Amino acid sequence: MSRYRHYRTTRQLDAIVDGELQARFEGLVTRHLSECPECTREVAVRRAIKDTLSRYGADPEVLARIERYSGELRNRA
Ligand SMILES: [Zn+2]
Repeated sequence: MSRYRHYRTTRQLDAIVDGELQARFEGLVTRHLSECPECTREVAVRRAIKDTLSRYGADPEVLARIERYSGELRNRA
């Protein structure tokens, strides 16, 4: 796995989740996600956070709970 591609992908995660990834990165990022559990998990976590926020709004207590949960997900790796 290319660490360089990994680094580039981590910088695109928000764009991926927001559906704002530039077309020229799409092939590379999709390929990288297929071989990198770390990035795949990050995308999943960010999607879950985004979904929850759009459902419940940005309540500070909800945000804190999400932060804890995403920390747990990362530590589970
Ligand atoms: Zn990666």
